[in-house]
Amino acid sequence: MILETLIVGALEVNCYIIAPAPGEEAVVIDPGDNGEKILERITAERLTLSAILNTHGHFDHIGANRFLKEKTGAEIVIHEKDAPLLPAADQHARLFGMEGTPSPAADRFITDGEILRVGQLSFKVFHTPGHSEGGVCFQTGKILFTGDTLFADSIGRSDLPGGSFRDLMVSIQNRILPLGDGIAIYPGHGPTSTIGREKRTNPFLAEFKHP
Ligand SMILES: [Zn+2]
Ligand SMILES: [Zn+2]
Repeated sequence: MILETLIVGALEVNCYIIAPAPGEEAVVIDPGDNGEKILERITAERLTLSAILNTHGHFDHIGANRFLKEKTGAEIVIHEKDAPLLPAADQHARLFGMEGTPSPAADRFITDGEILRVGQLSFKVFHTPGHSEGGVCFQTGKILFTGDTLFADSIGRSDLPGGSFRDLMVSIQNRILPLGDGIAIYPGHGPTSTIGREKRTNPFLAEFKHP
């Protein structure tokens, strides 16, 4: 399997390129910026980009949606509750004193529990609100792409519009942790981890009881 991580944009988002093998259908998760660089990697592996998956609609995760869609025709996929953020990247970026690149509208909405199939790839969708209303995690095999919900040793912020600390903690405790210690976490920012490691070391999860 191809699983490449590119760190993109000023907020250093992890953009993931996933495909079963060179020459096959691929997805990109969170192309936040640097569309040219992402496309270069896709081309180098002779991949067909079929879908752009957004873990959520914040400007730092969607900035290259437009570029990649225009170049490849890939479908933009997001949870419906974060869809209003796609055209509003500029307003959201301004909260950070930055400029955003609005995304075209979504081609497809995903819902909790759905299995999203793209070519030979499949992803289970977990709706994990709290960082944003429509935040999701995508699981494929033993890998969970957690967006800005859960990081190595940290959690997403919940003070942005649509955020809720309580919802975030419920999402992590009820939807992510039960997946099991052996699941690898590929977050929206920073290094990878595992659920087992986060249960032991993440200070934000210390209050949870882990059976
Ligand atoms: Zn975010
Ligand atoms: Zn982010």
